[in-house]
Amino acid sequence: MRKPIIAGNWKMFKTRDEALFFILKVSEKMPEKEKVDTVVFAQAPLLRCLITRQGEELRIGAQNIFYEDEGAYTGEISGPLLESYNVEYVLIGHSERRQYFHETDEDVNKKIKAAIRNDLLPIVCVGEKLEERENNLTNDVLERQIKNAFKDIPAIEMKDIVIAYEPIWAIGTGKTASAEQADEACGFIRSQIKKLYGPVVSEGIRIQYGGSVKPANIEELISKENIDGALIGGASLDPDQFIEMANAPL
Ligand code: PEP
Repeated sequence: MRKPIIAGNWKMFKTRDEALFFILKVSEKMPEKEKVDTVVFAQAPLLRCLITRQGEELRIGAQNIFYEDEGAYTGEISGPLLESYNVEYVLIGHSERRQYFHETDEDVNKKIKAAIRNDLLPIVCVGEKLEERENNLTNDVLERQIKNAFKDIPAIEMKDIVIAYEPIWAIGTGKTASAEQADEACGFIRSQIKKLYGPVVSEGIRIQYGGSVKPANIEELISKENIDGALIGGASLDPDQFIEMANAPL
């Protein structure tokens, strides 16, 4: 049995007061840690004040990490700094980072290694563009992204990694993949993990779906065999909606 993981990606939203209001409002209403993992990914400057208020039931994650541990990389965020703040999760390879900041599969691979080195738990995003789906290239894209992301990552590290399947055409568009489409893609990702690491790793790894998830569709999506939770953007900004979605797996 894989424990569901419900994650909110706040992207570049929320001021300090708005973020604190959210944490205050949702903290008491999160599901038990034994049943569901919940995390919100906040902008880097918010991490320090949110971490001091995080409880066991709601963890705070970083939206990015740089692949070197230190150096002359102005504006980047280091793994050792995140670790020193007790940040637990880090988002890697989100499609917005790939699109606007030109992150490559190779960067994603190096960032996963940096996260592992610094005891951070990565949520690794993969997913196809609309024209790739329309040209029947979804599986090719996912196969390439998975193979490159996990190059030289030992099997022992895979137990702490979460993969988020996020079709780019469904992110922030209000257009959700059908539960069947999402389950099929998550199943394909699991088959690729099996090919690389064998059945024990592939059966244990958690794979989320992301792309316009909201209270109205989360239950159907996460009821599918291969979907172990959700990565939620827009709808995670609202505390009431986040509370409802975090409690959906129960
Ligand atoms: C995301 O930011 O990863 C995401 C899936 O966004 P949205 O839920 O708004 O589509």
